[in-house]
Amino acid sequence: MADRMAFFTTPRAERARRDAHERVGDWREVYRPGALLPVVGGQAGRCMDCGLPFCHDACPLGNIVPEWNRLVADGDWRAAASRLLATNNFPEFTGRLCPAPCESACVLAIDGAAVTIKNVELAIADRAWESGWDRPRPPDVPSGRRVAVVGSGPAGLAAAQQLTRAGHATTVYERADRPGGLLRYGIPPFRLEKHRLDRRLDQMREEGTGFRCGVRVGRDVAAGELRAGCDALVVAVGATACRELPLPGRDLPGVHQAIAYLTWANRVDEGDRPDSPLSAEGRHVVIVGGGDTAADCLGTALRQGAASVTQLDINPRPPERRAAGQPWPVHPKVYRETTSHEEAGAAAAGPRVFAAVAVGFEAGPDGRLAAVRFAEAQPPDRGPRPGTERSLPAGLALLALGFAGPEPDQELIPQLGLATGPDGALTRDDGFATGTDGVFVAGDAGRGQSLIVWAVAEGRAAAAAVDRYLRGVTELPAPIRASARALTL
Ligand SMILES: Cc1cc2nc3c(=O)[nH]c(=O)nc-3n(C[C@H](O)[C@H](O)[C@H](O)COP(=O)(O)OP(=O)(O)OC[C@H]3O[C@@H](n4cnc5c(N)ncnc54)[C@H](O)[C@@H]3O)c2cc1C
Ligand code: SF4
Repeated sequence: MADRMAFFTTPRAERARRDAHERVGDWREVYRPGALLPVVGGQAGRCMDCGLPFCHDACPLGNIVPEWNRLVADGDWRAAASRLLATNNFPEFTGRLCPAPCESACVLAIDGAAVTIKNVELAIADRAWESGWDRPRPPDVPSGRRVAVVGSGPAGLAAAQQLTRAGHATTVYERADRPGGLLRYGIPPFRLEKHRLDRRLDQMREEGTGFRCGVRVGRDVAAGELRAGCDALVVAVGATACRELPLPGRDLPGVHQAIAYLTWANRVDEGDRPDSPLSAEGRHVVIVGGGDTAADCLGTALRQGAASVTQLDINPRPPERRAAGQPWPVHPKVYRETTSHEEAGAAAAGPRVFAAVAVGFEAGPDGRLAAVRFAEAQPPDRGPRPGTERSLPAGLALLALGFAGPEPDQELIPQLGLATGPDGALTRDDGFATGTDGVFVAGDAGRGQSLIVWAVAEGRAAAAAVDRYLRGVTELPAPIRASARALTL
């Protein structure tokens, strides 16, 4: 039996990372293999098993965190895996990539260090795979109904896995050559090695989910035809309409959207090309943006051998600790350093500039990008403060400004009679149904740019809605309503 007072006696310890200098020399995941297991039992034991577990509520999937913490602390890994897999289709992705709002809501975080919930989740997920506990679960009885899912990101995959397991003959349509959405071509391999995604896809195929890649629904196959040929259709096309930066020089060769840059880097990792046509090698790189995508560009540029990398973040540097207006248990806006920033520090590759607004791109004599001009961003509108403009040499500028909903040229939107809201997201009711009979929307396409954990929760909940539509009742779990929002201020 584990020490029930471990929260007094055991300090928080996080998963060990490989040395930053070593990491930038390869594309493997940044964590030290096997480093988690020796410590994780003690870390799980820090969970107080609170009467009102706010962590559970802060997780969009409703992961039953205190239960699996207790089981891990007591060494019953198999039962822990069973609890985790009951609420999360893909804990190997969330355990690596989730920003862990559950940890912000952990009661220990009120005046100390939260339980390392995400690390425990990952340890359970990896152990479940290694031990053969996360097995294919084909349905016992086919329902005789057919469902099409458009889009193979985490939302489409979660919806498809739930629907297949419930007995519906489910096919995923994906316009790219491989399934996975942003897990495949957005997030770099040093944060998610793609064999983990392939393993999960193999499991789904074994359960009976069909995949048709290289099919853009709306163009290669009419969306109305697809709907007519099945009993229900889930639209999970993501929200990858990139925000633009209409500044002088935006069209110069050398200025690119971050997602195009990351896609090429991922394609090199997949073995499709020997090198990227947008490589940072030997170039001064300026990244405009301050979020996850910008950090992924930074880590990628360092690995490609950039001469320097500078990140311009229009926001002021956040505080180190929760500000007064962001009390526990909300997920606060605090200063966070990603593994890419850690690597940039180790490589002395360039600074992260806060409160910096780009004002233009300058050409060199060859007509290519040669410099990025920027200025201090002044409140309240974050416009350039007069007299503060300067230039940074740049052979590559990457725009990582976020996304403005599903791509507006999606032919399937008019073909299915779907509506978009003021934010560009596809309109659905609180039960994920659109105004078109039998058509449902899940993931970033309906929510707007979000997170993997929300996409998986949406996929699961949309699958429950589809199952109810097809059978009149459902036993599938629906962790969220479409209108549910994160606990932030
Ligand atoms: C660079 C980057 C890093 C990120 N890092 C993190 C992170 O660390 N943690 C985190 O939680 N979240 C992260 N996110 C966000 C996360 O990846 C998304 O919220 C999530 O992938 C959304 O899932 P989705 O299934 O809704 O859409 P997507 O993953 O975008 O998948 C949509 C799929 O639909 C396909 N598609 C589109 N139109 C059609 C069509 N007409 N026919 C057929 N297929 C179509 C697309 O090709 C794509 O494969 C990151 C995002 C980016 C861009
Ligand atoms: S999925 Fe994210 S929020 Fe949920 S328990 Fe895991 S790390 Fe926490």
